[in-house]
Amino acid sequence: MPLVAITPLTQGGYETILNRFSHNTLIAHEDSLTELKTIFSFRSNTFYSNPINRLSKIKDFPLFPNTSLKGIAIKLLLDGQAGGWIGNKNSRVQTFFFSDVIDSISDKIDNSEDFCNELTTKMRHKIETFNNLLTPINGTLKIDSRNILPYWGQHNISSKLLSESNIINIKILPDCESFDMFTHVPTATRRDSFHYHMLKKEKVHIILVGDANYKKNICSCQACTNYNCETVILTDKKRKELLNLI
Ligand SMILES: [Zn+2]
Repeated sequence: MPLVAITPLTQGGYETILNRFSHNTLIAHEDSLTELKTIFSFRSNTFYSNPINRLSKIKDFPLFPNTSLKGIAIKLLLDGQAGGWIGNKNSRVQTFFFSDVIDSISDKIDNSEDFCNELTTKMRHKIETFNNLLTPINGTLKIDSRNILPYWGQHNISSKLLSESNIINIKILPDCESFDMFTHVPTATRRDSFHYHMLKKEKVHIILVGDANYKKNICSCQACTNYNCETVILTDKKRKELLNLI
């Protein structure tokens, strides 16, 4: 995800790969891409599950004084939790992802129906672009830093990253294990364990991880326990430097 959309790990992720691993072959498995593509493949078409459904409500109610269509849209994005508890992980992710889409709509549009139609069309388009960026061609995922999508905010990366073409090629391999092997693993860690297991089965030399708590998710099967490789943890240090936070 940090390579195709702006996150706090994007700057560090690119610099680590380009500076330290430019001569290595990078691999990932098909399921890692499938997992990313499910982020914006909404479970059901309800107000709570699907932000496009939520944003479609804009045309159903009148504007209050001192509110704008863009302001209402942001609040609807955040309001994605049954019970009125705002800011659960899904609505936060969706707000980061779609707030730029709201920004991109012309301020001249003051009709709620036109605003809504333009917004939902652009939201669908952004999901499509995200999925296309994660679609390999001939088994290789070619990532160009100029195509990084807005997500957590431009303040996380240097402007250079978007203006220069930094190409990262990742070989996408078919899954080399059945997911069934992990049905006994708790849901929260199941997919990560599956991915770590497959990487070790491929006998990789280094695993790049974006999760500081990755040790909890490492597969504990005999083969994985016996196979040791270097683990490099991506951090948000580079973003903090850009923001003068350290
Ligand atoms: Zn294993």
